[in-house]
Amino acid sequence: MASTTCLTLPSGRRMPQLGLGTWLSPPGIVQHAIEVAVKNGYRHIDCAYFYDNEGAIGEGIEKVLKEGLVKREDLFVVSKLWNSFHAPQDVKPACLETLRLLRLDYLDLYLIHSPMGIKNVKGDLLPQKDGKVQLDDVDYVDTWKAMEKLVDEGLVKSIGVANFSESQLERLLSGARIKPDVLQVERHIYQTQIKLIAFTKAKRMALTGYSPLTSPKRPFPPGKLDPKNGMEDPVVKEIAKKHGKSPAQILIRFNIQAGIATIPKSETPAHIIENSKVFDFCLTEDEVKKLESLHWGARAVAWDIVGMGEHKYYPFKTE
Ligand code: NDP
Repeated sequence: MASTTCLTLPSGRRMPQLGLGTWLSPPGIVQHAIEVAVKNGYRHIDCAYFYDNEGAIGEGIEKVLKEGLVKREDLFVVSKLWNSFHAPQDVKPACLETLRLLRLDYLDLYLIHSPMGIKNVKGDLLPQKDGKVQLDDVDYVDTWKAMEKLVDEGLVKSIGVANFSESQLERLLSGARIKPDVLQVERHIYQTQIKLIAFTKAKRMALTGYSPLTSPKRPFPPGKLDPKNGMEDPVVKEIAKKHGKSPAQILIRFNIQAGIATIPKSETPAHIIENSKVFDFCLTEDEVKKLESLHWGARAVAWDIVGMGEHKYYPFKTE
């Protein structure tokens, strides 16, 4: 079994550094992925209402708990409030729906999926008009106040945000009654987030890096920001060969050694097991520098599709 290390959050709670990503893991398959992951030492599961598979993940979680493979208190289950539910009155119902789907009575961490609200249109998570998403400029500070109430009510243990810029996080921190425990952002060799990692460390928050493998099967069409498949990068391959590890393991270890959490997605049992074996070797300082030098600001998930880039709170404008 892989041993996984933990990060201590500002709230004092502990978050396992390695988690299982679930975006694009289909219902029918993701249940087994959860079981394989738990059997191989994963304790952190990254979900989101938007991924449209929380019901199936709930079946997987229920099975591992019923079979006694893990205790609820040893799991760290994360979900995310989708952009349609930013209006304060929509936050609790959205959280309750996620809890119902996941078959849980609390979440370990609930994140605002992005700072950008969109119109709440029943049955449509990306309502569009003339080819553009219908945006809503509800202030994420107001959304945050409703998130704080979820902690008060015991529905979630920790709250945080995803895809916020440094200045948006500063603004949130300045007025928050409960400070965010975690910032989740894209982080890999082509988007190293050195500045944001330092910022969150200075604020004593934890950072979770998503798309650690550069999201090779992301559904978005190639654009100038798209990274290549980092697992095929010659620098990564060379370091992998030296350690007798796979390129995926090098990319995951790159995040672990940065002192952040990371959540590689896999629905393939052999990959899930492979990705867990990242605690038995160390990258040298020189190797880390070589990997960091591959940064060019690429984003696999730029959030600028169907007009989202025009949002008042679009987080990546300054790049
Ligand atoms: P990843 O970088 O984790 O890449 C996942 C892809 O890599 C899948 O196609 C997977 O295929 C493949 N893969 C996994 N392991 C291996 C391996 N060992 N060898 C070869 N291929 C492998 O991409 P994601 O974009 O999915 O990011 C990870 C997670 O982060 C998401 O699933 C989600 O939970 C979260 N996320 C959060 C976002 C946010 O906005 N907050 C945005 C994007 C992601 P296979 O399944 O067959 O193994």
